[in-house]
Amino acid sequence: MNRKNLFGLTLAELKTELAPLPKFRAKQIAAHIYKHGMKTFDEMNDLPKNLRAELSTRYEIKIAELLKRLDSRDKLTTKFLLGLSDGAAVEVVLMRHDYGNSVCISSQVGCQMGCRFCASTLKGLERNLTAAEMLGEIFFAEEFLRGDGQKLDSVVIMGTGEPLMNYDELIKMLRLLHEDYCLGMSYRKITISTCGIVPAIKKLRDEKIPVTLSISLHVPDDKLRSALMPINSAFGLKSLLAAGDDYAQATGRRVTYEYILLGGVNDTEEHARRLAKILSGQLANVNLIPFNPVDERNFLPPTNNAVKKFFHFLNTHGIGATIRKEMGADVNAACGQLRAKIIAS
Ligand code: SAH
Repeated sequence: MNRKNLFGLTLAELKTELAPLPKFRAKQIAAHIYKHGMKTFDEMNDLPKNLRAELSTRYEIKIAELLKRLDSRDKLTTKFLLGLSDGAAVEVVLMRHDYGNSVCISSQVGCQMGCRFCASTLKGLERNLTAAEMLGEIFFAEEFLRGDGQKLDSVVIMGTGEPLMNYDELIKMLRLLHEDYCLGMSYRKITISTCGIVPAIKKLRDEKIPVTLSISLHVPDDKLRSALMPINSAFGLKSLLAAGDDYAQATGRRVTYEYILLGGVNDTEEHARRLAKILSGQLANVNLIPFNPVDERNFLPPTNNAVKKFFHFLNTHGIGATIRKEMGADVNAACGQLRAKIIAS
């Protein structure tokens, strides 16, 4: 008989699922699953033996299964390829920064957004991930760190997929992650990266969950942005920047604009000037990402000089900019690269 997976259920859902068991049992079980990372009912010493046996016949507690693990030479980045129950695979990247440990998770299997420079979208969208599967990615990293005597400090939803195209499951997962009976993660320690689904940014503003919003802007003019990022034809720069500004005002959280530097495409001083102009007056900063070459995509990384000049221009024209530290290039850390390789092989 197929056992139902309890991992990923909220306390309210557990209470309903486990009824007529008394509610305090659901609370105990939630704590065992989320606080203590238990994967079997046998470990739950405070439940009567016959209840443990009965639960084991009806339910399981399952997160994803490890298919492959890669560690960067400097040991700062670990990438996991996780297998899901239907055979799909997702990438999870653990990054050990000097300011703490962060996990980057995927929100979909594949992606339908079609950005020209990105490997994740090459084969289109397979399916959305469920809240339980996304939480499972985070738990996988958290348990891995715990085994190493460390802890998880922050979560970025910047792996494969467009999180705001999987809105309901994303919000369910974030609320669960934040619960005291789960990891109790502060919303401020969570970043969502989006290519710019404007109506969903507006909706997110009203959820009262002040996560950090990161917008993949990448190009400061509509024509070139639409050519590189098809979503721009639906929601152009004007509406995107207005939604970003509005999010910052409503939440008090500074919005990060990601800007991928593609050699000879969007990395000139003229682009930097235009970017500074369209962001002026916003509660925002810019994270410059030197393009990470992808075999299947015909773009070049920027020269070091171009990166430095772009960075300098922004910082001397009123826009706080940082350069993303390249992590784990030797473990194919750019979006979708490991998954693409494994699937192709
Ligand atoms: N769909 C979301 C999140 C996934 S992509 C979004 O668009 O933000 C995460 C970030 O990686 C985006 O900024 C994306 O543009 C960037 N990215 C994709 N391919 C890349 C590559 N080859 N090198 C560097 N950054 C890349």
